Amino acid sequence: MLLPYDDTYFMKKALQEAEYAFEAGEVPVGAVIVVQDRIIARAHNLTEKLNDVTAHAEMQAITSAANFLGGKYLKDCTLYVTLEPCQMCAGALYWSQIGKIVYGATDEQRGCRVMGTTLHPRTKMIGGILADEAASLLQQFFVEKRK
Ligand SMILES: [Zn+2]
Repeated sequence: MLLPYDDTYFMKKALQEAEYAFEAGEVPVGAVIVVQDRIIARAHNLTEKLNDVTAHAEMQAITSAANFLGGKYLKDCTLYVTLEPCQMCAGALYWSQIGKIVYGATDEQRGCRVMGTTLHPRTKMIGGILADEAASLLQQFFVEKRK
């Protein structure tokens, strides 16, 4: 039987991470890194817990994946992240030479595309996978924060 290992499958795993962040009072962004249909890193935003503005989900995932692989480059990996990466994360992903980036919701203000960040020439990027789910989790978070 063929297992449904497609972009939606892995984005659901990233959304699960975003939910963990939500429950912990963190801006709900989650990420997983996949190589050959296997998840090698799972992470979510930890900026509150670590008191560190650089503790975005992608940054945690990059470090974790490199540790798992025992090498710093992620050329054969795909990153699934629930929100379009920011400039910092896109920069880190540039250095990792990651093969592919798949994101959920678009970040109209601080996303790497509107900011004009350059990706590594070997990196492919697609967006909009389970975008509504990712965006509604973020909206819910900020609505509850304002209460
Ligand atoms: Zn970021």
